[in-house]
Amino acid sequence: MTSTTQPTDTPVAAIPTFSEIGLHPALLQAVLDTGYTIPTPIQAQAVPLAMAGQDVMGAAQTGTGKTAAFTLPILHRLMAFANSSASPARHPVRALILTPTRELADQVADSVKRYGKLTPLRSTVVFGGVDINPQKEALRNGCEVLIATPGRLLDHVEQRNVNLSQVGILVLDEADRMLDMGFLPDLERIIRLLPTPRQTLLFSATFSNDIRKLGRTYLNSPIEIEVAGRNATADTVTQIAYAMSGDAKRAAVVHLVKSRGLKQVIVFSNTKIGTGRLARQLELDGVRAESIHGDKTQADRMKALEAFKAGELEVLVATDVAARGLDVAGVPCVINYDLPHSAEDYVHRIGRTGRAGALGEAISLFAPSEEKYLLDIEKLIKSSIVRGTLEIPGELLARGSSRDEPRTGRSSFGSERSSGASSSERSSSGRSSQSDRAERGARPSRYSAPAKPLDDFFTKPYQPSAASLAAAAQAPATSLKKHSLLTKRPVGLLLGAAQKKPD
Ligand code: AMP
Repeated sequence: MTSTTQPTDTPVAAIPTFSEIGLHPALLQAVLDTGYTIPTPIQAQAVPLAMAGQDVMGAAQTGTGKTAAFTLPILHRLMAFANSSASPARHPVRALILTPTRELADQVADSVKRYGKLTPLRSTVVFGGVDINPQKEALRNGCEVLIATPGRLLDHVEQRNVNLSQVGILVLDEADRMLDMGFLPDLERIIRLLPTPRQTLLFSATFSNDIRKLGRTYLNSPIEIEVAGRNATADTVTQIAYAMSGDAKRAAVVHLVKSRGLKQVIVFSNTKIGTGRLARQLELDGVRAESIHGDKTQADRMKALEAFKAGELEVLVATDVAARGLDVAGVPCVINYDLPHSAEDYVHRIGRTGRAGALGEAISLFAPSEEKYLLDIEKLIKSSIVRGTLEIPGELLARGSSRDEPRTGRSSFGSERSSGASSSERSSSGRSSQSDRAERGARPSRYSAPAKPLDDFFTKPYQPSAASLAAAAQAPATSLKKHSLLTKRPVGLLLGAAQKKPD
């Protein structure tokens, strides 16, 4: 049976501090070192339950502090096994955290390291698209906490690099995304390898029927926690939509960025080709911009992301898949250059701003043909989005039309989700492109076809260019500088957000 704890009209004084939650002193010290003293609402609810060994299903939208909400209780429980032995055998994998994307895996691994820094617990992250050998080595050294994307974890399982027989805690992070990306067969295969009984924590921005089914199948009497209404958007994000012709959108982005001095804006485009082209056009208009999408190498994507995090770019143009799970501190604004065709993607997109209680703005530019998507979004988030009017200088509009690249009709671009590997390449594994299967050796073909077409962005093997090889040699993907992830957040705002009603 599932019970539900509801969020919280709790006055500020009633929220326990981290010191009052009863965390192991080594963890408490590490949390205080980050500057956080007050748990966010999801942390206040999930941490004590998970510390007590309870299964939890958390519906927490991105940016609510959910990573610490599962990382802290895991580390707390694992302290019973902490030891300083050098022997790998004394450090078996005891907690497995599965995430949909490499970038998210990397971020979660950072949190585990940060909060576990004063303990002898070991952690490792494995994800696809990079050389498997250093990961093998790290696994051989032993780690109590393993953070992984499902496909690469199965690679390691097949190569017998990892033993999961001691896993007592499983976390499914951004479970909705993992289902969207067709990972269900991989998840099922992994879960079958894990012992029972175990503790399972499932986090998802939204609770779809499929997520509930997953919870019913693999969790044991989970307690449901919902800190914001399902499919709700953060209270701290102002939303506005401007109607305009498709041709005026580029000028609108330039105008918004320049006239308001915006920095670190994420602009969403629906297509890979659209992101690259828009970034190039923005550069021509004097906006420092880069794009990230599935046709870029891992090294190039990481480079663009790091430049963005370091404040060297004004705009990062991204597709939904590329931006998934990114936690970039302080993004003040996201712009929907194209409206997403799936309303849930809108919730994820605007979750890039207003994170952890900071204020943010989500601006949507929509052509008449896109109004239907706006109506779908409003239905999903159960509120209307203000329609504004944007005066764009004629000079900017004229500049764009005089240099536009020849247009190839939008329909031929193909959305990122449906482009890439052909459906026949994907259908047999439920997740992988053909080349990815080749990388791992033949995977038993008992997988069924994914519910949605898969994007090969996170699954296809990384094929480095000479330039990106050189860049990767200088800055390995797993040890990137984290310019702003440690930025302290305004706790008062966090609590302000917590006091609001969910719906
Ligand atoms: P997440 O939802 O886990 O991606 O976290 C969003 C952001 O909130 C991250 O940058 C965290 O470092 C930050 N954060 C997590 N917990 C707290 C806290 N208790 N107080 C302030 N900021 C936090």
